[in-house]
Amino acid sequence: MRIFDPHIHMTSRTTDDYQRMYAAGVRAVVEPAFWLGQPRTNVGSFLDYFDALLGWEPYRAAQYGIRHHCALALNPKEANDPRCAGVLAELPRYLLKDSVVAVGEVGYDSMTAEEEHAFEAQLALARENDLPVLVHTPHRDKVTGTRRTLDVVRAAGTPPERVLIDHLNEMTVGMVADSGCWMGFSIYPDTKMDPDRMVAVLKAYGTDRMLVNSAADWGRSDPLKTREVADVMLAAGFGEDDVDRVLWRNPVAFYRQSGRLDLETGSEAGPDYAGNTIKRG
Ligand SMILES: [Zn+2]
Repeated sequence: MRIFDPHIHMTSRTTDDYQRMYAAGVRAVVEPAFWLGQPRTNVGSFLDYFDALLGWEPYRAAQYGIRHHCALALNPKEANDPRCAGVLAELPRYLLKDSVVAVGEVGYDSMTAEEEHAFEAQLALARENDLPVLVHTPHRDKVTGTRRTLDVVRAAGTPPERVLIDHLNEMTVGMVADSGCWMGFSIYPDTKMDPDRMVAVLKAYGTDRMLVNSAADWGRSDPLKTREVADVMLAAGFGEDDVDRVLWRNPVAFYRQSGRLDLETGSEAGPDYAGNTIKRG
């Protein structure tokens, strides 16, 4: 079984996680830029973080046989902090980098005017850079937030096949299915979707444009939730080909639109990265 986790924050995870993910079948991930919990107070903090997503983390992932790409953006939550607004001006030069396969995560957190401004500006950046977009939907008032999200995407003229709307549930999947956008589901240990609910959604809506992720980060989360969904799918009567489609071919098809997805083996990072070595000896 091969698994592509299309949304996971490995910066917050340990090497044990990388080992367990590899053993479970995970061979590729996309790490979107997000909020680190501790608010950032200046643009430079973002740039160091972006550099880590472009350099250090793919190097670390490669030690465990996992391909690492990233999506870059000013996240919705920090879009509200005027000290971080300058990130939008820095993004264009970062979006040119080879391992950036999308703009993200963008969208709404509390549905403020500042979030909407950053969302629209980054949809424009995605179009200018010919990149797909990963859109976060709010955890509170999700139905209203998802509807407004789809309105903004439509008004921006972004083609739906270039947009992945994430953190969906039973309440929001229908409107996104109708929109033509890709549908992302984050499987958490005790909130949002669980594997059984996910499989019920797949039975109701089919496997077309469906992506499953662990969204594992610094909170209670589990990077093996993708594998758990695959196992529950098989137990529920889905075939190996359905599993491969949802857990591998769909994320590959979505991010391949960037023209930058590199899943070839044999070009793993060498023993040193930018003068750092992973060996402490
Ligand atoms: Zn996330």
